[in-house]
Amino acid sequence: MCGIVGISAETNVAAEIYDSLLMLQHRGQDAAGMVVCDQNDKLSSRKSMGYVRDVFQQRHMEQLLGNYGIGHIRYPTAGGAGKEFAQPMYVNSPYGISFAHNGNLTNSKQLSNELFHAEMRHLQTDSDSEVLLNIFAHELGKQREIYPSPKNIFKAVRKTHLRCDGAYAVLGLVTGHGIVAFRDNNGIRPLSIGIRKGNSRDEYIIASEDALFKPLGFNKLRDIEPGEAVFIDKSGQLHSEQCSDSPKKRPCIFEYVYFSRPDSKIDEISVYKARMRMGSKLAAQIKNVRPDHNIDVVIPIPDSSITAAHQLAVDLDVPYREGFVKNRYIGRTFIMPYQEERKKSVRRKLNILDLEFKDKNVLLVDDSIVRGTTSKKIIEMAREAGAKKVYFASAAPAIKYQNLYGIDMPSTSELIASNKSNEDVSKEINADWLIYQSLDDLIDAVQSGNPEIEEFETSIFTGKYITPLVENYLEDLENSRKDELKVQREKSQANA
Ligand code: AMP
Repeated sequence: MCGIVGISAETNVAAEIYDSLLMLQHRGQDAAGMVVCDQNDKLSSRKSMGYVRDVFQQRHMEQLLGNYGIGHIRYPTAGGAGKEFAQPMYVNSPYGISFAHNGNLTNSKQLSNELFHAEMRHLQTDSDSEVLLNIFAHELGKQREIYPSPKNIFKAVRKTHLRCDGAYAVLGLVTGHGIVAFRDNNGIRPLSIGIRKGNSRDEYIIASEDALFKPLGFNKLRDIEPGEAVFIDKSGQLHSEQCSDSPKKRPCIFEYVYFSRPDSKIDEISVYKARMRMGSKLAAQIKNVRPDHNIDVVIPIPDSSITAAHQLAVDLDVPYREGFVKNRYIGRTFIMPYQEERKKSVRRKLNILDLEFKDKNVLLVDDSIVRGTTSKKIIEMAREAGAKKVYFASAAPAIKYQNLYGIDMPSTSELIASNKSNEDVSKEINADWLIYQSLDDLIDAVQSGNPEIEEFETSIFTGKYITPLVENYLEDLENSRKDELKVQREKSQANA
């Protein structure tokens, strides 16, 4: 997962891009970067590994001068985790184009072969974002215009859609010309646009999440549509065009479950309200299956599950208590590369309030169960604190399949539910009862925020992928995501 932002304003935008990246930090903590362009077409950029606050020091900010620019927060999904994968990525021909990409291409290997052999472009990394950037650059360059018009830009996006499979929300800076934004045919990854009045022109922001619009004084204009491209030229004029012949809105449902901020609205659906409805659905399921349940207290596993857990407690009419205190200064445990590290860091990240558990039947609520590391450890902690029974509810259904569209899920074989029944998962994490949200209930909880959306991207629960897949793609990905292989790769890199 990644976060992207672009701003076009009357004056310098670097400080606002910095603030935006801070507000998108939850979408990735691996690397951050930005590039800005001034009215003399001079580019300045800075990117590096680490948190936003570590990447940009005062001395860097002073150099970042320009009234339009783009920024990126990285969470590695494809390619490695080195400095060379930090974004925005840059290609010098044509015009000098920088790209910030959120998502994952499923045919990037095939495209990188085409780029190398047919289009004579050398790629420096195995990042799919670099592939996407080069495809767009090639399609724009082919038109051989000295000054690209919006029409040229949109044509290049149209061609990019025809060649690229998978998920992509993109912000591109075309040096000396403006900012382009586009979203794949299915609108899998989110992207919205906001507007603010300047002195002599409108100013625009385009970002993965709209939660950051208000704090920066922008009002939301709308979501970018699947397949659509928006171009804000150097003078601040907004142009847009549908660049796909077959757009269909199918946003990733996991944004609502886990990734996005609760104060964001994605494709007109409030993430907060969707999570409340997830809690209500779980409560209805419990009332239905165990009307005489003996739950004494509902306890969330912070943070993403808090909203659903609270609503679940209200609907069940059972007390809601905070039983865990989270150390906010440790990154997401999932990001720890290897299993042993992850196990230790759960305990360091979440401390337990024993009194809320002692002699009680507790229902723990999490947004999802991925490898099961967190849930297993937390159930153990609840028992040590004196809980009588430990029930566990997941606001998402069982995750059984790897993600191909830009969410950093482990390989299928590492997912605890990949080849187990719910009862077996329950046993493995040592719960007295495990309640998974049903997929229909999850879809309903999200969809009722915007009934116009007919379908969501739900492949991690169903294994049904909505974009074409090249042969062996799933197997290759499975292998590249296995922990042991990551260790081997890292060791050989260290020894090299
Ligand atoms: P696990 O211990 O692997 O089952 O992790 C489950 C926890 O990871 C849940 O509390 C989720 O909030 C969180 N989570 C789910 N998906 C992801 C992801 N793609 N990246 C980081 N954390 C995640």
